[in-house]
This record gives sequence, C-alpha cells and structure tokens, in this order.
Amino acid sequence: MRKKFVAGNWKMNTDAARAAELAAQVVAGFVAQPGWAEKVQVALCPPFPYLGIVAQAVKGSPVHLGAQNCHHEASGAYTGEVSPVMLHDTGCHYVILGHSERRHKMGETDAQINLKVKAALQNNLTVILCVGETLTERQEQRTLAVLQSQFHGCCHGLSRDAMAKVVLAYEPVWAIGTGHNATPEQAQEAHAFLRSRVSEEFGPDVAGRTQILYGGSLVPDNAPQLLSQPDVDGGLIGGASLDAARFLKIIEAGAR
Ligand code: PEP
Repeated sequence: MRKKFVAGNWKMNTDAARAAELAAQVVAGFVAQPGWAEKVQVALCPPFPYLGIVAQAVKGSPVHLGAQNCHHEASGAYTGEVSPVMLHDTGCHYVILGHSERRHKMGETDAQINLKVKAALQNNLTVILCVGETLTERQEQRTLAVLQSQFHGCCHGLSRDAMAKVVLAYEPVWAIGTGHNATPEQAQEAHAFLRSRVSEEFGPDVAGRTQILYGGSLVPDNAPQLLSQPDVDGGLIGGASLDAARFLKIIEAGAR
C-alpha cells in the first residue's frame, strides 16, 4: 500500500517572513489532525534562500523539506548553482527535478536531468521527477510517447534500488498554473502508463512501490476526485501551496 504524498512547490515566491509564517501554519495545521501523518507524507519546497528558515520551521515535525532544483556536481566552479551535497546539508529530504518550467524556460534536457537525478540520489535525496506533455503534444496524441521518452531519458542507468527512491510527478504542461486541471480519467491513464513503464524498466516490485503524484492546477475542489484515482498517489502543488488553508485541504483529501 503506497502512502499518499503532498508536496508544495513554492516556485519563486514568498519572502523570508512569509516563508517562516507559511511553513509554521502548515506544520501546525498538519500535526493538529490526528492520523494525517500516518496517511500522508508532506513536503515544502521553498526557494533556495529560504531553505534554512523552513528547515527551522519544520524541525521535529513530520513535514519534510525539499528544494526545487540542483546541479549534478558536488562542488566546484559553477557560479550560481547549488549542489545536492549542499541541499542535504541544509536539511533537504527531497529535490524536485525536471519541472516543466526548467525544461521549457531554462532549456533543461532529459540528459541533464538524468545527471541531476543520479547526483541527487547519490547524496541521499529523494527525487521528485516531473514529466508531462505540452498541449500540442496532447492534441497530436503524443502524450504517452512523450511520457515514455522523458521517463526513460531521465531514469536510464539507475539501479532498481535507486529507482525505488524516485517519486514521479505527472505534470501536464497545459495544466500548470492555468486553472485547467487534467480530468481524473486523464490523470489515471497517464499514471497507470507511467507505472507500466517503471515496471517494464525496473520490475513490478519497484513499480508497485513508486509514488506517482499529479500536478497541474490541483486545488481543494478537485483534490478529492483526483487523489482517489488508483494510480494517483498524491499531488505536487504550485499555486495552492502558497495558502496554508488551501494546502491543508488538499492534504485532508489525501488523508481520506
Ligand atoms: C507546479 O508548479 O508544479 C504546479 C503543479 O503548479 P500549479 O499547482 O500552480 O498548477
């Protein structure tokens, strides 16, 4: 039985005071509900400068810290980059890799993401690996081919043990920040397909344990239906994670 997982991707939002307040509100709301921590894993992924602040706010609680990206090298002459060693040192448990905003706005390729995935796993981070098709790709009926190629491109060369520490996030690009979420049926189809790919490449045991999150305009209203699909194991939440009450409502849907 896979545990549900709800992660907040704050993107390039908040300031120091707001990051501390938001994290404290999520921790307080989460621990106040008996049984939620047994049913749902929760992570907050603030911008790099606020990792330390959020690390303090979640310390001693069941809420985990995550980052939104990392470089594949451990250290060196990479001005402006942050290494997985540093993230682990700062208290991160998770790192989001391959987010569509990095693929499409910063030009990250599957090959680069593959290096990052391997480096993050070697440094004891659990990877939240995002994959997803654009609107054009969906309209051209290429969704499953795109998912297959992104998944293979980002995860090839991993051992089964390493793959067991990867969380997948199906994030259709057309649904991110648009208010147009995938239907529960579209999400289920994509998630079941991704699980079949994990099974094909890494075996049914790993596939059965792999958490696959849905991301893309997931909000309190659509969370109950989306999170009740058999292969939807939680959500990667952008906009709605910036409001503690809305984020907690999504966690509540996951705890049902
Ligand atoms: C995201 O950025 O990963 C995301 C899913 O954003 P939103 O929830 O705002 O669509």
